[in-house]
Amino acid sequence: MSRSESNDHANSESGAPPGWERVIAHADMDAFYASVEILDRPELRGLPVIVGGGANRGVVSSASYAARRFGVRSAMPTVEARRLCPHGVFVRGRMDRYVEISRTIREVFESFSPIVEPLSLDEAFLDLTGAGRLLGPPLAAASALKRRVLERTGLVVSVGVAPVKMAAKILSDLSKPDGLLAIGPEYLRAFLEPLPVERLWGVGRVTLERMHRAGICLIGDLARRDAGELRARFGSIGPHLRELACGRDPRPVVADWRRKSYGEENTFERDLASGADELGRALIAHAEALGRRLRADRVAARTITLKLKLARPLGGGRYPLVTRSLSLDAPTDDGAAIMRAVRALLARAAVGEKIRLAGVQAHHLERSDPRQLGLFDQKVAIAVARNARLNRALDAVARRFGEDAVTRGLAHAERAAPTHRIK
Ligand SMILES: [Mg+2]
Repeated sequence: MSRSESNDHANSESGAPPGWERVIAHADMDAFYASVEILDRPELRGLPVIVGGGANRGVVSSASYAARRFGVRSAMPTVEARRLCPHGVFVRGRMDRYVEISRTIREVFESFSPIVEPLSLDEAFLDLTGAGRLLGPPLAAASALKRRVLERTGLVVSVGVAPVKMAAKILSDLSKPDGLLAIGPEYLRAFLEPLPVERLWGVGRVTLERMHRAGICLIGDLARRDAGELRARFGSIGPHLRELACGRDPRPVVADWRRKSYGEENTFERDLASGADELGRALIAHAEALGRRLRADRVAARTITLKLKLARPLGGGRYPLVTRSLSLDAPTDDGAAIMRAVRALLARAAVGEKIRLAGVQAHHLERSDPRQLGLFDQKVAIAVARNARLNRALDAVARRFGEDAVTRGLAHAERAAPTHRIK
C-alpha cells in the first residue's frame, strides 16, 4: 500500500450511508437446532421436526417451520407438542454439533465485522458501520452475509438491518423465514409506530398489562405520550421505553472479546522479596504467556495490570492484595511490551514486603489488526508487522516445543515458574 492510499483510507468517511449514524445488523439462524438436524439427515426435509429432550428434557427447544404450522413453538412442553403434532419427528438435541456449527457461523460474522456481539449460539448483532467501503450499502452487505452463511453451513440466517439495535432485532424477527429487511433512519419511526408495544425490549408481561391499562397498545401510542407522565406511571423505565418507541437506542454493539480480560498468575512455593530474580522470571513468563494468548485470539490490550498478593496474613486465609494498572499509548499483544509495563508497575508499587502471589492481567482489548489500530504511519506499521512476524515465529516454536522454549530473557536461567489462567 502506498503512502497516499493509506492516507485516503485513514481519512475516508466511516463507511455508513448518508443519514445513518450506525449500521447495525441482527442475524438470527432460522429454527437453528431443527435446521441442523435436517442438514445432517436430509430425509427429514419438509417434515415437522421437533427438537427437545437432552439437557432440557420435556421442553421443545426448536421446531422446524413445518412443525410450527401445527402450532408447535419453542419453550412449549413436549407433551403439548405431541398433542398438536402427533406425527412429528421428535429428536433429542445434540448440543456438541450445534456448538460446532455455531463456531463456523461466528467466523462468518467476524469476517464481516470486527464488532460482533453474540446473544446466543445462533444469534448476534454486527456493527456494519465501517463495512460500507468494502461491502457496499447495508442491504448488499446483509445479503452477502446471508449468502456466505448458507455457503459455509448449508443453513439459512435471517437478517435485519437498522441504525439502532432494537429495530434491527425486530426486523430480523419479522423477516423470518429466510428473510432480509433493512430500514433507513428516515423511515424508522413510521416503521415502529404500528407495531404492538410488546415488540420493544423491556416490555414484559407485567409492564404490558400496565401499558394496556394506560391505553398504550402500539409503539406509536407510547411515542406520543409525555415523558413526565410515563415516569409517574412506570418509573424510570417509562421514559426509557418512550425513547425506544421514538427509534432512539444509543446502545452500541459490544464485541464479546472486548468484555473479556486475560490473566496469568501463580503462587510461589516460598514467599519472595520484590527484587527477587524468581519474581522477575515469573512475571516474564506471565507476560509472554499473555502475549501468546492475545495473539491467538487476535486481540491487543490497552491496559496492563500487575497483581501482587503479600505474604503477611490478614487472618482467615486472606492476604493483602496490591494491584497497579497502566494504560499504554498503543494496544499491544507483545510479551516484551507487556513486561515493560509490568516493570514500571512493579517499581511504582514499591512493595517493601514479601510476596506470595504474582499475576499479570490484560484489559481493554481491541482487534490487533494494524489497520484497525490506526497505524497509518508506514514506519510504525512496518515495525508492528516485523514484531508480529517475530511473535508468530515464536508462537510456532512454542506450539512445537512447549512454552518454556521461547520464554524471552530466560535463555540461561532456570525454568520459568509455571503459570495458570485466572480467566
Ligand atoms: Mg434463531
